[in-house]
Amino acid sequence: MSKHPPPGNDDFSGKIKGSGQRCAFCGRPPDNRRKIIQGYRDACICSDCVKMCVTLMDEDEFGRRGEDHVKIARVPPPREFKHALDEYVIGQEYAKKVLSVSVHNHYKRLVAGKGDEVEVEKSNVLIVGPSGCGKTLMARILAGVVDVPFAIADATTLTEAGYVGEDVENILLRLIQAADGDVVKAEKGVVYIDEIDKIGKKTQGVSITRDVSGEGVQQALLKMLEGTVCNVPPQGGRKHPEQRYIPINTVNILFICGGTFDGLDEIIGRRIGQKSIGFHREQGKTADQELGDLLEQVDADDLLEFGLIPELLGRLPVIAPIRPMDENALIRILREPKNALLKQYEHLFALENAEIEFTEEALRSIAKKALKKGTGARALRSIVEDILIGLMFELPDLPRPHKYIIDEELIDDGWELWGTKHGYLAPGAENVHLPGKGRRRKIEQGENKEIPA
Ligand code: ADP
Repeated sequence: MSKHPPPGNDDFSGKIKGSGQRCAFCGRPPDNRRKIIQGYRDACICSDCVKMCVTLMDEDEFGRRGEDHVKIARVPPPREFKHALDEYVIGQEYAKKVLSVSVHNHYKRLVAGKGDEVEVEKSNVLIVGPSGCGKTLMARILAGVVDVPFAIADATTLTEAGYVGEDVENILLRLIQAADGDVVKAEKGVVYIDEIDKIGKKTQGVSITRDVSGEGVQQALLKMLEGTVCNVPPQGGRKHPEQRYIPINTVNILFICGGTFDGLDEIIGRRIGQKSIGFHREQGKTADQELGDLLEQVDADDLLEFGLIPELLGRLPVIAPIRPMDENALIRILREPKNALLKQYEHLFALENAEIEFTEEALRSIAKKALKKGTGARALRSIVEDILIGLMFELPDLPRPHKYIIDEELIDDGWELWGTKHGYLAPGAENVHLPGKGRRRKIEQGENKEIPA
C-alpha cells in the first residue's frame, strides 16, 4: 500500500489560501498582491513564484543554444537548388532560376559573414503570380535544401500595432517554433509571407478612418525585412507592456513574399503598350498564356502602381514571376513530381495488393475540372480524392491482386454506376450508400450535403 494517497484526489485543493500559509519556494506569506495557492498535501506556492516558473520554462523553450550546431557547412550552388525544385515543381523555369540564384547568394553572404570589404546587401524575394501555382511550394523546398527552419505567414492577418489582429512579430514566433525554440537557428531561417498584395495601399475610396491593415503594416514589415532586432511575444497574440520578449535578429532571415497581384497584368500591358487585354489577344494564345507572358515582364514600377509602397519594394529587390497552370501542366503535376498525387495513390493501392492506373483521358478530365476551379494545382487533390473515395471504401472487399484502371467514365458516372457496370458492385440495394452519380457529396465545394439525384 502506498503511504501517500495518489495525487488528484481530495488532497489537492488548488485553492487560493488566506494568511497563515507560506510559499514553499520563497517562504513569504501572502499579502494583498501576492496570493498563495495550495496544492497536493498542503504544499503552497505564491503567485510570484508561479510567474517566475513560467518565465524559466519559456527561457528553456525559447533560447539561444549556441552557434556551432546551426552552422551552414556548405552553400549549394544554384544548380543544386534548381535541381531540388525540379524534383517537385513542374514548369516555372524562370522563377526557379531566379529563386535558386537569390537563395544561393543569400546563404553565401551569410556564411561569408561580416569583415569583407564589400558588404553584400540582403536580397529578399517577391514571387508574383496566380494562386496554387507553386509559390509556397518553392519557398518550402528551398528552405529544405539548406536545412533551415521555414515558416509561412499570411499578410492579411497582420494589423498595425494597437488594432485587432496579429502583430507583425508573430511571423517570427512561427519561425522560432519551427526551429524548436532555438532562436539562433531561427535567425538563419526562411519566412514565406503570402498575400503580400492584399496589404496594398488603396488608391481609390480614400477613407477618413485609419488604414488599419494597409500601409501601416507595410511600414511595420519594412524593418523586419531589412534586418533589425525584433521583440517577439513568446505566447503570440498581441504585445502588452508587462510581457517578456524574445529578441531575434532578422538580418540573416530570408523573406520570400508572394502574392497573386490580380490586375497587375493590365498595368504591365498598359506600360508595354498592349491595350485592351483580351480583345487583341495574340493569335493562338490562351488567356493564361497571355497572363504568364505579361507577368514575366513585371518590373518594380508596375508593382508601385499596383499599390506596394516604394520602401517595401526596395526591400524586395528580386522579383520572380510565375505562370498560371494549363491543362498539360496540371497533368504533369498529377504524374511527375517526386511525391506526385498519382504515385501516392499507387502506393496506397499497393499496400492493399492492388494496382491503380489512370487513363490519359481521365487525367485530362481531372485537369479540366481543376482548371474550372481557378485555384491552380491546389484543386487536384480534392478532385482525385472525390473520384476514388467509393473505390477506396470498397477496396479491401474487392478482388485482389487486381489492376483498377480509372477511366473518364468513372469520373463522369461516379463510382456506384461505374462499379456496377464493371462488375465490382452487385446491382441492387446493398451499395446505394456509396457516393455515386447524383449522390456524390459536394466535398469539393466544402458542402457536406448530398445532391438529390
Ligand atoms: P501558391 O502559389 O498559392 O503558394 P502552393 O505552392 O501552395 O500555391 O501550391 C499548392 C499545391 O499545389 C502544392 O502543395 C502542390 O501540391 C501543388 N502545386 C502547385 N504548383 C505546382 C507546381 N508548379 N508543380 C507541382 N505541384 C504544384
